[in-house]
Amino acid sequence: MATGGNSLPSGTDGSKRTVCYFYDPEVGNYYYGQGHPMKPHRMRMTHALLAHYGLLQHMHVMKPNPAREKDLCRFHADDYVSFLRRITPESTQDQLRQLKRFNVGEDCPVFDGLYNFCQTYAGGSIGGAVKLNHGHCDIAVNWAGGLHHAKKCEASGFCYVNDIVLAILELLKTHERVLYIDIDIHHGDGVEEAFYVTDRVMTVSFHKFGDYFPGTGDILDNGYGAGKYYALNVPLDDGIDDESYQSLFKPIISKVMEVYRPGAVVLQCGADSLSGDRLGCFNLSVKGHAECVRFMRSFNVPLLLLGGGGYTIRNVARCWCYETGVALGVEIDDKMPEHEYIEYFGPEYTLHVAPSNMENKNSREMLDEIRISLLDNLSKLQHAPSVQFQERPPDTYFPEANEEDEDNKDERNYPEYDGNIDYESKPGRVKMEFLEPVPNDKNEEAIDQLSKKGGVDSH
Ligand SMILES: [Zn+2]
Repeated sequence: MATGGNSLPSGTDGSKRTVCYFYDPEVGNYYYGQGHPMKPHRMRMTHALLAHYGLLQHMHVMKPNPAREKDLCRFHADDYVSFLRRITPESTQDQLRQLKRFNVGEDCPVFDGLYNFCQTYAGGSIGGAVKLNHGHCDIAVNWAGGLHHAKKCEASGFCYVNDIVLAILELLKTHERVLYIDIDIHHGDGVEEAFYVTDRVMTVSFHKFGDYFPGTGDILDNGYGAGKYYALNVPLDDGIDDESYQSLFKPIISKVMEVYRPGAVVLQCGADSLSGDRLGCFNLSVKGHAECVRFMRSFNVPLLLLGGGGYTIRNVARCWCYETGVALGVEIDDKMPEHEYIEYFGPEYTLHVAPSNMENKNSREMLDEIRISLLDNLSKLQHAPSVQFQERPPDTYFPEANEEDEDNKDERNYPEYDGNIDYESKPGRVKMEFLEPVPNDKNEEAIDQLSKKGGVDSH
């Protein structure tokens, strides 16, 4: 079984990549409520652009299988998932204690179809991981995913279930090490927390830091126990532009790729780091944002591209459409094709719009200091910690059945698999030793059991 870098089935010629794109035509109908900045409609706008730019025919277009309760429970607490499944706008009055307990109600409202929405966006990310694990594609894309703030038993920041953690757990069935990179303007706290004490996942988040949601992501926070130095935080200030951003992104990620050698990469492409975002305060252009995708694509490692934040929805659609083109290796026209949402894109009707003239509060000196400090952290990493696999745990499911078929719900193909890893039957040593109680016991258990499957070779 191939693991590690340079493992793309389509080879390393640098031009062609096989892309699986996950999209559910229903996703644009979910509605967080009047005035709420999170608008699933942006995925439908992105899809319309992809269709009219003629990009869909170059990809395997897949409708995600909805994640099942047991899939969600690989990371989330059973009672939290059960609550999400049952709660409706009509029943909230009887559930005030539970709503408070699970942080559902304000930023994360109860709306019609909430649980189906969670199943859909998580299903796309898990499905993408399965496709990558099988070598069916080089790049998997799920713009509905990337909801990085959700915790094991708590909603947060418009996120209910953490599709990223679930997708990474799936990738860990095949890959020894998975790299997570987050370019949303907000800290990727939910994913960092889930993998804070393991070296099997390295998390790297670039975000606005200082009096900004969610408040975590200090440069000094870098992992714990076996995970020490396997979490990286890049704190940034208002107005960062393309050049400043790449002056950190490329050297840091190059070093990470060199020393960590991940078998797969998950890139959360939150578009609230773009210039002019309704909630954000960075000044990136679409091309500057997409440069991160282009750069990660160049490493020839299986790549999962996910969405995330993004609240000026015309720019979100521009960005994710362009980045899909980058994934395919296609440079698309700046002039936008006529399509059903064209009126959103006036007066320019172009894919690219100029960033603003806002002040860049990130001085050269600050950026240099951050880069030096993080490269120093990386020099403390042992090279590529390894887990030896002898047997791969079963996949979650195979989404082939409805490939390029939007109406074929009854042919979903679930192999005989109960959604859980067999914890008991395989002998093996335990990889991680903890000095203190583990903050994410459930998730650690899942990783731990993946390790037990194969036995561990520690350095
Ligand atoms: Zn965000």
